Parts: sequence; C-alpha cells; structure tokens
Amino acid sequence: MDAVVTSEQVREVLGSVVDPERGQSVVDLGIVRSVDVADDGRVAVVLAVGAPGSPIRAQYEGAIRDRVGALHGVSSVTVGFDLPSAEEKEALGKRGQKGGLPEGALAGVKNVICVASGKGGVGKSTLTANLAAALAAEGKRAAALDADVWGYSIPRMLGVHGRPTVNADRKINPLEAAAGVKVMSIEFFLEAQDQAIVWRGPMLHKAIKQFLQDVEWGEVDFLVLDLPPGTGDVSMTLAQLIPSARMVIVTTPQPAAQKVAHRASELARRFDLEIAGVIENMSGFTTPSGERFTIFGEGGGQLLADELDVPLLAKIPLQESLRVGADEGRPLVLDDPHAPASQSIRQAARGLIAMAPIPAFEVPPAAPASSGRRSALPTAGAQKPPAESPDAAPPPEQGPKVTGTPLSLPLSR
Ligand code: ADP
Repeated sequence: MDAVVTSEQVREVLGSVVDPERGQSVVDLGIVRSVDVADDGRVAVVLAVGAPGSPIRAQYEGAIRDRVGALHGVSSVTVGFDLPSAEEKEALGKRGQKGGLPEGALAGVKNVICVASGKGGVGKSTLTANLAAALAAEGKRAAALDADVWGYSIPRMLGVHGRPTVNADRKINPLEAAAGVKVMSIEFFLEAQDQAIVWRGPMLHKAIKQFLQDVEWGEVDFLVLDLPPGTGDVSMTLAQLIPSARMVIVTTPQPAAQKVAHRASELARRFDLEIAGVIENMSGFTTPSGERFTIFGEGGGQLLADELDVPLLAKIPLQESLRVGADEGRPLVLDDPHAPASQSIRQAARGLIAMAPIPAFEVPPAAPASSGRRSALPTAGAQKPPAESPDAAPPPEQGPKVTGTPLSLPLSR
C-alpha cells in the first residue's frame, strides 16, 4: 500500500474547514481535540464543538469527511465530537468573533439571560421587563437591555424614559427604573419616542456591541436582554459577543407556536449557548368566577421544554393587568405581586436564580460612577466624537440612521 497520510497533512486540510459564521478554520478556532491516523490509513478526528444533534456538527462532519477523505492514503474517516468545556467555549467566543467585546467589558455582570422567541407578539418583552423587576424583587441586582432594536419597548414597559448621562470614563450610565433595575435602550437616543429604526445588520451589530461595552453596567447579578423575535442578526451578534449568555425561550401554548419557538433554540445550539429554560406565556385565562379557558391551547411549553431537554420555568396566565401594567410602565410583579401572573413570573425568576448561584465571594462593587455629566446625546450631526481614540464615533453620514433623521450616538466603532 502507498505511504499512509500523516496527521500533519490531516491538520493542514482541517485548516481549510471554516466555520461559516466565525470565518475561521476549526484549527484556528482551537476546537480540534485529536487527530489519529492508523497504519492502514484510517483517520479519526475529534472536535470539541456543539451539542448532540446540533446542525453545526453535521456540517463539520460532512466537510471533514469530504476533504480528509480526498487525501491520498486515507482509507476511511470518522469524525467524533466532544462537548466543549466551559473554558473552551469562552476561548471559542473570544477567538471566534471578529469584533468581540474588549477585555473587561461586562466584568461586573454575573449572568446574562437572553429572552428569545420564534416570533413576535408572544410576550417576550413583557416577560423581559417583568423578569428583570422580579429578579430585583428577589433581591438581585438586575438590569434590562433592549436588544429588540426595531421593536424597542422595554422603556415603556418599565416606565423609564430620558437621556442617559456619560461618566468620566466616557461610559453611558443606564437609566434606572423601579426597584433599581438598570435599563438601556435605543429609545433613549432617539429624538422622538416611537421613532422607527431602519438599521441593517452591521449597524445593529455595532450598536448592540456598544450597548454591552460602552454602558456602565457596574455590578449586576442578572442582565436580562430582550432579543428581537426570530434568529436574526442581533441574536447572532449577541451569541457571538457573550458566549456565556443563557437563553430563555418564550412560547405560547399551542403546538404550532412551539414549533416556531424551536427555531429560536436552534440559534442557541448553533453557537453553543446554554438554554436555561422555556417560559410558556398566555397560558390559559381564568375568569373572575374561576372558570379557566385555554385560549391559546395547552401544553406547547412543556412540549418544547421536553424537546430541548430543559426545564419549563413557568406558565404565565393571560391576565389583563399584566398588559395594562406593561402599557403604563408599571411591571405587574412590583405593582401587584400577588397576581397569578406575577407569582408565575417570580417563579421563573427564582428558577433562574437557582440555576445561577452567585459566588459566595463577590467582587467588591466598583467605585461609584462620576457625578454623571449630562451627555450631549443625541444632537444629530453636530456632536463631536466622544474621544480622540480610534474608537471615535462614525461620521454622521456613515453612522446609524433613523428614518429621516440622522442619529449620532456616542457609540464607538
Ligand atoms: P413580544 O415582545 O413577544 O412581541 P409583547 O411583550 O410586546 O410581545 O406582548 C404583546 C402584547 O401582549 C402586549 O400588549 C403585552 O402586554 C401582552 N401580553 C403579553 N403577555 C401577556 C399575558 N400573559 N397576559 C396579558 N397580556 C399579555
């Protein structure tokens, strides 16, 4: 038989197997656990990536079989997979992103929870706002980031509007809602409430990144993110920027919705994000006389949780006061803690807390941010970039645009 292939040759070929999202090869990403070549030309490659059944594993397997199998002297190729360790995931997140967060960004943030859904209108924002408030009511330092850039609604739901200030380190101070929940949203930088956002992928990526790195989040136990519905640009950005984030998937009870919600979970699997659990919302309506109607069907949340092998964190009933509270900026969990919907949301919050024990030895809180000069935001166009650094804001004509009105955020490139 001809000379057998060497493991170096196999590794060289693996260098051409590129992760389509991260744009780097499996070798550069550091996810090749082992390459074994037997005397008879059998090659075994093991990668540390993905979860069992994840589409990325199948993609890698196909590419590796094809390319390594084409090498002279290879008689067969097997591709095995290991789960990446926590350190590998972290490293993968850092290496794999072209524009990752700088070292130290979010240093004081202990847990990031991304609230996702397959489609709009299932109560994702309402639950994000109320979850953040519920976490605060449970004694945790909570923050909410409105990453649903097109459908921003967290300020309305938490009843906080205004212009953020900038501290001496040129970081943006989040606004504060009831129960001390820190809030950041694109709305705070718009000239008018309810202004439409027409940004596309790259601008969104930049804006979200800057909300994470240029905001003075300080010491926070839970940063809860309201993701846009579906598995679009922003979700992908977040998954890349915060590999340690965990997802909560919101679904309504009918099986059709559960299928749509499943798509949101595919993003999590794709990027090795942990799914903390499922919340079923609009889960039945009980009349004042105690009669219960399952308006949106039943069982979808449990079905999805079982499919994903994660806990069903809570079933939130339909309750008018939850909607009214969200419309009026008074989260029901604070306004009426005994309401059935409030109790269910508190249950979900406690589930998240139980999953993420805060380390006994906490990092001491950072020195208080400077007095908070009022920022010059967002005076369109006329504003000087915030720093003489290479991170200066893009010129207005390239910068983020809001329908009709150029918007100049103090957001670095
Ligand atoms: P999404 O963020 O998924 O698009 P929203 O949070 O904006 O959805 O919710 C859509 C509407 O349904 C809002 O008016 C919200 O207040 C209302 N809503 C959400 N969940 C409930 C519920 N459990 N009971 C009553 N109204 C709800």
